[in-house]
Amino acid sequence: MTDDMKRSLEFNETTFTNERRAPEGFAPIANEIRRDIVRMLVRAGSGHSGGPLGSADIFTMLYFGGNMRYNPADMQAPRDRFVLSAGHMAPVMYAALANAGCYPKKEQETLRKYNTRLQGHPGRDMHLPGIETSSGSLGQGISIAVGMAMSDKLVDKNDHRVFSLTGDGELQEGSVWEAAMSASHFKLDNFCWLIDNNDCQIDGRVPDVMDVYPIDKKCESFGFDTIVVNGHDYADLQRGFDRFLENQRSGSGKPTAIICQTFMGHGVSFMNDKFEWHGKPPSKDQATAALEELAQHP
Ligand SMILES: [Mg+2]
Repeated sequence: MTDDMKRSLEFNETTFTNERRAPEGFAPIANEIRRDIVRMLVRAGSGHSGGPLGSADIFTMLYFGGNMRYNPADMQAPRDRFVLSAGHMAPVMYAALANAGCYPKKEQETLRKYNTRLQGHPGRDMHLPGIETSSGSLGQGISIAVGMAMSDKLVDKNDHRVFSLTGDGELQEGSVWEAAMSASHFKLDNFCWLIDNNDCQIDGRVPDVMDVYPIDKKCESFGFDTIVVNGHDYADLQRGFDRFLENQRSGSGKPTAIICQTFMGHGVSFMNDKFEWHGKPPSKDQATAALEELAQHP
């Protein structure tokens, strides 16, 4: 391995601010998040590659586009909240939090190590700043997030926003739809449901395992203001977030669903749109190839 390749596996301490940007301003952030995901996973020797890489653009817009308000120096201060319902996609959330400056980026090298704050699925008991709740039992995270949104809007009566991301395979869990029904019944216009629609899950293409389509019609029938966007297009993603912000600002009484159409493993060509990459890490050679490819599009 050359020195250049060794260096490409190292984490750097560059962080990014959370603010409205022109669409082209997001690409370098998403690229760094993708590289950190590869660096983490090859060191861990286990974990999920496809979902985290495929959703890196969604997380970039969420954490670095001014859409979710938080203070990276104090993640307990009054804030908007995010719950990763698809908890196995933890590496992309850890990379976003590290690149926001919520914890030292070098700590990413501890992913899945004994006693690390970066468990295979998010664990609130590990006290990593930005982890609002433990998650990973599919269908549960969104239910907790809806409870948070109820608490914010109906009990504390504040203007905090709550976001939750589910996978599309996760839509096969009945409790997802109980949460959706509640969000609509309680008129939670402060709740934003992000769906990572990559059409893949661990065992194959989603319709081959258990058909969940049409997702947009289902969300609409559950009372959500629903918008379908290209999950790799920053302007289109912002269009989705803007719909949510307007729903909350105007007091529409409607929760928002943003269906983000993505490709699993996006950014690394040999993983792109391949469900086989749902739950495995790259080998060292594959990681080197992935980092070389990502380095060409910073
Ligand atoms: Mg999926």
